[in-house]
Amino acid sequence: MGGGGVPEREGALVATTPKELFIGGSWVPARAGRRFGVEDPARGEVLCDVADAGVDDAQAAFDAACRAQDGWAATPPRERSEILRAGFAGVTAASDDLALLMTLEMGKPLADARAEVAYGADFLRWFSEEAVRIDGRYNIAPDGGSRIVTMRQPVGPCLLVTPWNFPLAMGTRKIAPALAAGCTMVVKPAHQTPLTTLALAKILAAAGVPEGVVNVVTTTSPAEVAGAILGDERLAKVSFTGSTAVGAQLAESAGRHILRVSLELGGNAPFLVFDDADLDAAVDAALVAKMRNMGEACTAANRFLVQSPLLDAFTERLTARMAALRVGRGTDPGVEVGPLIDERQRAKVARLVDGARDEGASVLCGGRALEGAGYFYAPTVLSGVGPESAVANEEIFGPVAPVTGFGSDAEGIALANRTEHGLVAYAFVRDVERALRIAESLACGMVGVNRGLVSNAAAPFGGVKRSGIGREGGHEGIEEYVSVKYVAIDRPSSDLPRWS
Ligand code: NAD
Repeated sequence: MGGGGVPEREGALVATTPKELFIGGSWVPARAGRRFGVEDPARGEVLCDVADAGVDDAQAAFDAACRAQDGWAATPPRERSEILRAGFAGVTAASDDLALLMTLEMGKPLADARAEVAYGADFLRWFSEEAVRIDGRYNIAPDGGSRIVTMRQPVGPCLLVTPWNFPLAMGTRKIAPALAAGCTMVVKPAHQTPLTTLALAKILAAAGVPEGVVNVVTTTSPAEVAGAILGDERLAKVSFTGSTAVGAQLAESAGRHILRVSLELGGNAPFLVFDDADLDAAVDAALVAKMRNMGEACTAANRFLVQSPLLDAFTERLTARMAALRVGRGTDPGVEVGPLIDERQRAKVARLVDGARDEGASVLCGGRALEGAGYFYAPTVLSGVGPESAVANEEIFGPVAPVTGFGSDAEGIALANRTEHGLVAYAFVRDVERALRIAESLACGMVGVNRGLVSNAAAPFGGVKRSGIGREGGHEGIEEYVSVKYVAIDRPSSDLPRWS
């Protein structure tokens, strides 16, 4: 634990964070009066309880979103832009509190939490800039017989479902483009981390988001709550970030109702080190790509694939760095690795490591859960993991780095692409032509070349294959929240003098 004043600040912060549902601009308890506890994963203790929404609350929240839709769509883009910009300022001003809140309910070290606040806030700033650049076009049909006018209009009320691993940024990455486009929404955060989203809703309301435009329902019954909204014919769009299994279920419902859908799902990122790589840079980036958020990131490097000449040196250096990482409660100074989110997640990580060990892999460091309170697991490096092993095929979502060698570039690419996922890949390679060849061959939505981090509000984030559909961020991000309408206008009469 840190100094004596820290717990007091934590208590005060939790006490002043909203804990009710945010519906139509008001904080309201769940109609059935139900509540659920929010846990500190570093201690396994309940921090506070929040409203546990049921179907009635979901319908009330969605009604509020539908009532606000026309007004928000008609709000001038510049006004929407300025509200988003005020949201960016509000989140930035509350950076310390939001970071601490995330550390408390999610476990990540404060440095990671602060980085997430900056990243999450950036979506509000980026989409404040995009709000005034939603354009259309005018052109003459090829036969000259008509004019083609296209416009982009908000899709309408949205359901946004977010995960626990980046409680702020996964929210703003959806909320900001939806607001910029003129859509209203119901946001459903993960039950493990509701406080950050509730705190964000308060900031957005203070920034001027009108009542009913952003509604938040926290719940332990996600299928029922989402189901109530998915079945409402006024719903225009569902955007989901989370596991591939739940994403597939939502896509099925969305298919039944012919809804627009965006899915940001699981990953199984390869981290490739080619024989001309800068080894120091590759090891530094490996730590970032693997250990940011304790490995609980969809972009986390899941498999380290190293070309034979560098395999031993890379493995040795990575092991030394992983073994030296400081594990502890995210609020404690100098802590680099926090707990996993819950016992279920820790048990999954343990199962994957134990399975690899049983298959003959070597555990070079870690390889065990840490005793005591909280869901800690030691940073782990594995070598000799076969391509069939579960740890190479499932998303680990924990601090475990399996390292495997490869021979030719073609063999490395084949191993990298040997997954049903396709979110991100990392490649360490100095030769530019080789780097481009490799980037073009990787079956994924994003490639980090000589970088262990690709997330950027100005870039289109998203995957291929079972990692999802659609893009968040960049110019592409807003396309998820607009529909293109085309208006055919008959050829204007031509008896006027031409000006050119
Ligand atoms: P999850 O799928 O269990 O839950 C995600 C969200 O869906 C939560 O809000 C949850 O309450 C809700 N949910 C669960 N069941 C539901 C149902 N039947 N209907 C509607 N909503 C439901 O995932 P998680 O464990 O919270 O998050 C981890 C997963 O998220 C990982 O697989 C990770 O890769 C993925 N993720 C992907 C990205 C990306 O951008 N591709 C980003 C972050 C996390």
